[in-house]
Amino acid sequence: MKKKNLVIFTGAGISEESGLKTFRDSGGLWENYRIEDVATPEAWERNPALVTEFYNMRRKQIMEALPNRAHEVCVELENYFNVQIITQNIDDLHERAGSKNVLHLHGEIMYARSSGDENLLYKLNHWEIKIGDKCEKGYQLRPHVVWFGEMVPMMEPAILKASHADLFVVVGSSLQVYPAASLIHYVPEEAEKWLVDPGNFNLSHIQKLRHIRKKASEGMEILKSELIQKHL
Ligand code: NAD
Repeated sequence: MKKKNLVIFTGAGISEESGLKTFRDSGGLWENYRIEDVATPEAWERNPALVTEFYNMRRKQIMEALPNRAHEVCVELENYFNVQIITQNIDDLHERAGSKNVLHLHGEIMYARSSGDENLLYKLNHWEIKIGDKCEKGYQLRPHVVWFGEMVPMMEPAILKASHADLFVVVGSSLQVYPAASLIHYVPEEAEKWLVDPGNFNLSHIQKLRHIRKKASEGMEILKSELIQKHL
C-alpha cells in the first residue's frame, strides 16, 4: 500500500522541552528584547553588533540543546508515512534527531549568509559570527534567518508540500506569524488536521481539526498511536 503524505508543521513550541524559549509565551524571548531591535532589516542597518550578538546567543543555546521526544516521534513516523517536516524554527533539532525531509521557512541559524549576496551561505560549526567576518566578496556575514518584514522565499515550496498532504499536523505553533501561519489554508479540505499545542486557541474555523492540548512530547506520542491505529 502506498504510504500517505504526512506533513508536520512545527513552531517554537516543539523545541520548548529542549530548553529553547518560544517567543510569545510568558517568559518567552521577546520579554527581554524588542523585535524591532534585533529581528528586522532596519535593526541590522542601525546596530549590526546587537543583532549579531542576539543571534550568537541563540546559536550558542541551540548548540547546547538536544532534540526531545517530539522530534524523535517525527522521525519514527517515517516508518509508516511519507513525512515532510516544514518548520518555522531556525534550530537544527529536527536534523539532529534524524528527520530526512526538513524545510526551513525562516532560515537556519547554523548557517551564515553574505549580507551582499543572498546566495552565499556558509555552514557554521561554532556559535559566533563576529563583526568583521566577511564573505568571499567582502560583505559582512549575517545570520541566515528571515527577519520580520523580509520575504519568505521557502513559502512557495512549502505551499506545494502542504497542498499534497493527506494528513497535516501542526506542533507548537500559535499560528500567528504570517505568511507561515496561512499554510494550513493550502491543505486539502478532506485532509485530516491535528494541532499538538497546550495553548487555548479558538480554531473552530478550521474544518476536520483535532486539537491535542498537550506539550509536544506527550502530545506526539498520542498522535503517533492515533495515526497508526486509524491509517494503517
Ligand atoms: P510562538 O512563540 O508564537 O508560539 C509558540 C507556541 O508553542 C504557542 O502556541 C505555545 O502554546 C506553544 N508551546 C509552548 N510550549 C510548548 C510545548 N512544550 N509543546 C508544544 N507547544 C508548546 O512561536 P511560533 O508560532 O513558532 O512563531 C514564532 C517565530 O519565532 C517563528 O518564526 C520561529 O521561527 C521563531 N522561533 C524559533 C525558535 C527555534 O528555532 N527554536 C525559538 C523561538 C522562536
